[in-house]
Amino acid sequence: MNLFLDTKTIILLLGIGYLFTLILIGAYGHNHTKGLTVKTFLLAKCSQTIAWFCMVFRGEIPDFLSISFANSMLFIGTSLEIIALLSLQNTLRLKTKIIYLVLTLLSIIGFQLIVLFYNEENIRIAYSSFVIALFLIPVYGMVLGKTTTFLMRIIGSLYLLVIAATLVRGVTALLTTTVWTSLYTPGLYQLIFLLSIYLVTNLGNLGFVLLMKEKADHELIRLASYDDLTGTLNRRIFTEKANQYLTDYSKKGQPLSYLLFDIDNFKTINDTYGHHVGDQVLQDLTTRIKQHLGQEDLLVRYGGDEFGVLMLGKDETDSNEVAEQIIQSLNGSFSRDLPMTYTISLGALTVIPDQHMQLETLYTTCDEALYKAKGNGRNCVFRSHIGVHNAVS
Ligand code: GH3
Ligand code: MG
Repeated sequence: MNLFLDTKTIILLLGIGYLFTLILIGAYGHNHTKGLTVKTFLLAKCSQTIAWFCMVFRGEIPDFLSISFANSMLFIGTSLEIIALLSLQNTLRLKTKIIYLVLTLLSIIGFQLIVLFYNEENIRIAYSSFVIALFLIPVYGMVLGKTTTFLMRIIGSLYLLVIAATLVRGVTALLTTTVWTSLYTPGLYQLIFLLSIYLVTNLGNLGFVLLMKEKADHELIRLASYDDLTGTLNRRIFTEKANQYLTDYSKKGQPLSYLLFDIDNFKTINDTYGHHVGDQVLQDLTTRIKQHLGQEDLLVRYGGDEFGVLMLGKDETDSNEVAEQIIQSLNGSFSRDLPMTYTISLGALTVIPDQHMQLETLYTTCDEALYKAKGNGRNCVFRSHIGVHNAVS
């Protein structure tokens, strides 16, 4: 396949592409976010746009602008793009910022020295290729990171391809004395390189926007799933997950245990120590309860001072043990940040669910047990069997 690419036209189109990305993301950032990530990304696009526009006028404007300045802007743009990507993934550290600042300065100085002392095109190409490849190295984290998403892996892998193409370009430029590796010399090499620049453009623009959207989606799901104050599941998502477990465990024929609990005399705590201490008690209780639960068990704050727990695979003996441990761990035990101790009352229920059982049934039954525990003097567990209630302690 013969493609006759006019380099200047393509670079001009790239510049225009960058310019529009700049305008559109700038407009988005104006209304939606005041975050540094978007600003850094915009700065990156700004530098890259300037770089491409300077390169397009090679021969018509002074070499200082189309070579020295353009390459420096490209280094700055790549460096900022990686910083924005790391920041988007919450993996940007101060140390990394400093390293990038120093590396960018050194690369610019290095390039100017090459222009001053060895102003050969292949040396310049090799140098800037190695610098760009070096700057892009952190993208390996997007491919190999433990918490990365499928989208991140795909984008990271494409960036790795760009690193490979850039390295090949750099090595080839070093090993040749001709200038066939130049962007401005027609041929297969130019075709591959221009296509890889096109890939980087799309990666950097569409990829970044999609990653931003993915992050915003995760944040929305988190906000819609968890209680703000305690970080426990909220009622809606807990009910959804619990009903799914009831179906699963009815198929397995294995037990599930449910605890419903409520802080004793919480109003008095609020009235005596203030609402903010009441809030701390709710957080403290959540932390302590989690210590007695398995990784898969679900903890919900129904509202106010009422919480629920669904324990997977735990039978009556296991769940009695957990309920007792919770009661004992609170009894008379001061928390570091609280001026008083507090207790809770619990209702407990164990079922091997049938396929029609819903969480609502467990809640209603356990609520009656909790009511009895309160009536029984508080600070105790009352066990429910669907239809019957027994005091445990
Ligand atoms: P009991 O032992 O019978 O449960 O008595 P109680 O005083 O704990 O009564 P109840 O459980 O009905 O009290 C719930 C109180 O929780 C009422 C409300 O003012 C308070 N509350 C609800 N939400 C919050 C919150 O987010 N923070 C704080 N600090 N208090 C809350
Ligand atoms: Mg209460």
